[in-house]
Amino acid sequence: MRAAPVQHVLVVGAGLGGLRTVEALRANGYDGRISLVGDEPHLPYDRPPLSKQLLAGSWEPDRVRLRAEDTYDDLGVRTYLGTRAVDWRPGQVVLDDGATMYADAIVVATGLSARRLPGQPDSVFTLRTLDDSLALRAALDKASSLAIVGAGFVGAEVASTARDRGIEVTVLEALSVPFARALGEELGGLCARLLTESGATLRTGVGIDGFDGDTLLLADGDRVDADVTLVGIGGVPRLEWLSDSGIDVTGGLVCDAAGRVEGAEALWAVGDVAAWHDDVAGRPVRREHWTNTVEQAAAVGAAIAGGEAPPPAVPYFWSDQFGMKVQLFGRPTEATRRIPLHGDGLDGGPVKGTVVGLLRDDTLVAVAGFGAARRVARYRALVAAGVGLAEVEELARTLA
Ligand SMILES: Cc1cc2nc3c(=O)[nH]c(=O)nc-3n(C[C@H](O)[C@H](O)[C@H](O)COP(=O)(O)OP(=O)(O)OC[C@H]3O[C@@H](n4cnc5c(N)ncnc54)[C@H](O)[C@@H]3O)c2cc1C
Repeated sequence: MRAAPVQHVLVVGAGLGGLRTVEALRANGYDGRISLVGDEPHLPYDRPPLSKQLLAGSWEPDRVRLRAEDTYDDLGVRTYLGTRAVDWRPGQVVLDDGATMYADAIVVATGLSARRLPGQPDSVFTLRTLDDSLALRAALDKASSLAIVGAGFVGAEVASTARDRGIEVTVLEALSVPFARALGEELGGLCARLLTESGATLRTGVGIDGFDGDTLLLADGDRVDADVTLVGIGGVPRLEWLSDSGIDVTGGLVCDAAGRVEGAEALWAVGDVAAWHDDVAGRPVRREHWTNTVEQAAAVGAAIAGGEAPPPAVPYFWSDQFGMKVQLFGRPTEATRRIPLHGDGLDGGPVKGTVVGLLRDDTLVAVAGFGAARRVARYRALVAAGVGLAEVEELARTLA
């Protein structure tokens, strides 16, 4: 029996993944009804500039908007902004105004909320939204010191932006080096050097016990007081509205390799909330990256519209900090060892220009680069093919 044609697609979450899903539906010839529900008052905007150009003051908010207002009419999508989804049942979503929307396919693209520390006062900043970025920017305009909890990418980018503005920065990190778990000690050590070489103070292995006003109380008894304090300790998938749905939302929405939520009818998920089955890793993996979101949205839009699935891509992440692009292709958590390919960063030389291969035994699983965009790009196909050490070294010699 053929499935009934899809007549209404409801996309929950009007961010990058939501918008790109809508565009992919149309690009694949779907001409039915589309609704896009988002709880922020803004049309979809881009988040990477929130810790970079927008925070630095070199861009204004209209520049982070992903599409002009009339694009939504052109796409034939009805937007419901300032509207939160509060519940789901098969084929239905309940909104915070009490209305129920019915759809043949529902796509979840609700992203993350910034994780907070227990007892965190409202005057201590987090950074996830446009409004967060503008509030932090206004506070930094008057600040001469900034304390950041968490040396992840958002923490490092804010530190970089603040150092460029001459602000004294202290970064507090729980692990021995930033990204110790995801990237290992050596690569994490390079990220640490970017911070310290900018003049920021980095304190690692530090726990936070609580707050006294805005002052951070450290587990070792110390106190850190700054004009502005930011907590940048990652995000929590925004799936609270699915808590009564019977779907397991621990650790994200578990999906098959095409984005269908497991155990739910006609429900799909893309972006930061979605843990798609990764054939290479052999398990569901949730990635909180821009490119991953765009690729998943393209695949889900095509699948719902009956179009052709795009080929699987190599995971990719970039970060702009301290005057360079930090990039990563592949699956670093699968690596068992790391080898230098270009530059001397791992031997204490300049971080800029360093490219590192991450291998699982003798198979290339990822490549990381610091201010070496052109070279890093050349390894992408090798990561995709999962080539052996000899081929990696051959390319390194060619590019030397
Ligand atoms: C400061 C910052 C810098 C970043 N920099 C980089 C970078 O340099 N490189 C990189 O690869 N990635 C970066 N990222 C990550 C990238 O922006 C995300 O991967 C991407 O935005 C994820 O898209 P999404 O659609 O899943 O979620 P979002 O873009 O977060 O969109 C989700 C939307 O859904 C809304 N929503 C949530 N719950 C509901 C509900 N119940 N009902 C209705 N609407 C709801 C949210 O308010 C939000 O508007 C950065 C992220 C941040 C925050």
